Amino acid sequence: MAKCSVCQAPAVAYVRVQRRYLCRQHYLEYVEAKVERAIRRYGMVGRGQRVLAAVSGGKDSSTLLATLSRLSGRLGFELIGFYIHLGIYDYSEKSRRAAEELAAKLGVPLLALDLREVLGMGIPELAKTSRRPYCSVCGSVKRYVINAAAVELGADAVALGHNADDIAVYNMKSFLSQDLEAISKLGAKTDTVEGVAVGRIRPLYLVYEKESFLYSLLSGLPFLHEECPFVDRRQLEVELKEAVNRLEDKSPGIKMQMVTRLAKRIGDYPRPRGEVSRCPSCGLISSGGECSFCRITRRALGRPMGMEVRRRIRALAAEMGLLRASQSHS
Ligand SMILES: [Zn+2]
Ligand SMILES: [Zn+2]
Repeated sequence: MAKCSVCQAPAVAYVRVQRRYLCRQHYLEYVEAKVERAIRRYGMVGRGQRVLAAVSGGKDSSTLLATLSRLSGRLGFELIGFYIHLGIYDYSEKSRRAAEELAAKLGVPLLALDLREVLGMGIPELAKTSRRPYCSVCGSVKRYVINAAAVELGADAVALGHNADDIAVYNMKSFLSQDLEAISKLGAKTDTVEGVAVGRIRPLYLVYEKESFLYSLLSGLPFLHEECPFVDRRQLEVELKEAVNRLEDKSPGIKMQMVTRLAKRIGDYPRPRGEVSRCPSCGLISSGGECSFCRITRRALGRPMGMEVRRRIRALAAEMGLLRASQSHS
């Protein structure tokens, strides 16, 4: 049986790029070191800052919250988890339990917003009235609510659980359709637009999908194994993922090279045209006129609900004692 190259304990994994076998403990440290390297290299978060981590209950969010909670002391940032109950039947119930259990085990405060409590409906009903695909509505809603929470909590950054494989696949997909503006959003870090949008960071940028999976398994932390029942397994994305993995098998390191070079050259890609504006209904970021969340909820409920979501998050944050002293606006 293979032994850990560091401590000679039984190995649980082989890290090909380093040609090393690692035991459980050293494997966990190896992944945590990758996350720390990404945070430092891309200047994701500084001392005294507050990070809001989006937690879905899945493997990547488990790895995200666990690695960030281990690094928060040393790097001196504050960590808060954020979960959105999307109202997707049984799946949302299970993912909520996983997210709550995860946060409790790590001792990280978790703010959970239940869409049904604010809107009286979840994603399935919102998607039906908007006549857009489920995953597209769900993506818009999540982006909006996560940003609203970050603004209300006075967070300096929102941490997302995208791993290196996700970035490589989105990059390839956007490249094939020559959507260069979409590529410009795939960096390790995006900027904050004061008062309307909090910058996003991707601490798992250098972590492969299988590393994230193995980390969440080996760390013994809870995560939900099943996928959303509405998952829209877009054929192109599945094929690109397989293609990238085949290339990686033949030329080890090519995936990481793509991702790190992308991060380096992200500024060369054109940003979406049109200026950033404020939604007249809720005051948060929009690309002109009412934001997509306010439009989706207006169609479903007869009025835009962005402001309601902001109020609800603020009330929850106040209950948990998470509002920052400097936040005096009402
Ligand atoms: Zn070891
Ligand atoms: Zn709005």
